[in-house]
Amino acid sequence: MRVLTVIGNRPQFVKAAAVSRVLREDHEEVLVHTGQHYDDELSTIFVRELGVPAPEIQLGLGTGTNTEQTARQLAALGPLVAEQRPDVVLVYGDTNSTLTGGIAATQAGVPVAHVEAGMRSFDWKMPEEQNRVLTDALSDLLLCPSHTAVENLEREHPRGEIAYVGDVMVDVADLFRPKARADTAVLERLSVEPGGFVVCTTHRAANVDDPARLRLLVDLLLAVPYPVVLPLHPRTRARLEAAGMLDELARRVTLSPPLGYLEFTALLVHAHAALTDSGGVQKEAFLAKTRCVTMRDTTEWVETVDSGWNVLVDLDAEAAVAALDRPLPDEHPAPYGDGRAAQRVVQALAQM
Ligand code: UDP
Repeated sequence: MRVLTVIGNRPQFVKAAAVSRVLREDHEEVLVHTGQHYDDELSTIFVRELGVPAPEIQLGLGTGTNTEQTARQLAALGPLVAEQRPDVVLVYGDTNSTLTGGIAATQAGVPVAHVEAGMRSFDWKMPEEQNRVLTDALSDLLLCPSHTAVENLEREHPRGEIAYVGDVMVDVADLFRPKARADTAVLERLSVEPGGFVVCTTHRAANVDDPARLRLLVDLLLAVPYPVVLPLHPRTRARLEAAGMLDELARRVTLSPPLGYLEFTALLVHAHAALTDSGGVQKEAFLAKTRCVTMRDTTEWVETVDSGWNVLVDLDAEAAVAALDRPLPDEHPAPYGDGRAAQRVVQALAQM
C-alpha cells in the first residue's frame, strides 16, 4: 500500500509520530508538509524528538488567512496527488491541511482516510469545526478516537466507513511521557517547582484575534494565583504585541518560545493545572491526570469534562481561578483507547 500523508502543523506532527512509524514497517508512505507551521519549534523539532520521518515533500506554503492558505495548498496538492498516485491520502485532525488534503484527493479520485474523524464542538464559528465537518463529509474511511466521535458520525450518516480506533495521541503520550516526566530541567530553567505552577497555552482565533477578547484573556492570566508558564504560540505573540499587551503580561507570566513535546510534557505532568484553549492539551492533561481549565465555552473532548478532569470557563477569570483549585476526581476513565490506535489505523487502511 502506498499512502500519501498530508500534515502541516504542530499537532499533526505529534499524530504522525504515532502512525508513521507503524505504517512504514510494511507499507510505503510519502509524507507531505504543507508548511502551514514553518517555525522549527512548531514543526521540525518533532522530527528530531519524536522520530517523525522527515517529510519527503515540503511545500513551504506558509501562513495567510484561512482562505488564502486553503487556496494555495489546494493548488499545490492537486497536481501532487495526481502525480504521486497513492492508494490513499491520509489526513489528521482539523486544520486547513486536513481539508485541502481531503479535497485534493477527492478531486483526483483517490480515497481519503481521516484520523480524528467525528470530533465535534458544535461551534460552527470555529475554523477547526468547519474543517472537521467538511473533511468527514468527503472521507472514505473515518477513523474515530472515541465512541462519542462514532456516535456523532452515526447521527450524520456520512458516506464513508466509520471505525473506532482510539486516539493516536494516547500512543504518543504513553511512549514519551515517562521520559518527559523524568527530566525536570525545563522546570529549573523556568524557575518553577513541581506541583506549584500552572502551564498555559493559548492560540485559538476566537481568543486572540479580537482585541477585546484578548484583553479578557490577559486579565484572566493576570488573575491566576500561581506562577504561570506560557510557551507562546507565534500567533498569540503577534496579537499581544500588536495590542500592546505583551510587556504587561510578561511582568507577571513567565513567557517562553513554544517548547518541544518532551519539555512541554514535563511541564504538563508536573503542573498544578493546565490552563488552555488547545484541543490536544486538554486531552494530554487528562491523560497525565493533571487538572485542566479550558478557556473555551465548548469542547470536542467532552469526556474530559464529563469525568471532572476538565472545566470550561471561557474567559471568565473568576470561574478560572475557582476551577484551578478544585479537588481532583477519584475516577479516571479511559475513553480514548489503549495506546494502540496507530496499529488499528494501519490495519483499517490496509483493509480499505
Ligand atoms: N505542544 C508542544 N509544545 C508547546 C505546546 C504544545 O509540543 O509549547 C504540543 C502538545 O503537547 C500537543 C500539541 O502540541 O501535543 C497541541 O498542539 P496545539 O495546541 O497547537 O493544537 P490543537 O491541539 O489545539 O489543535
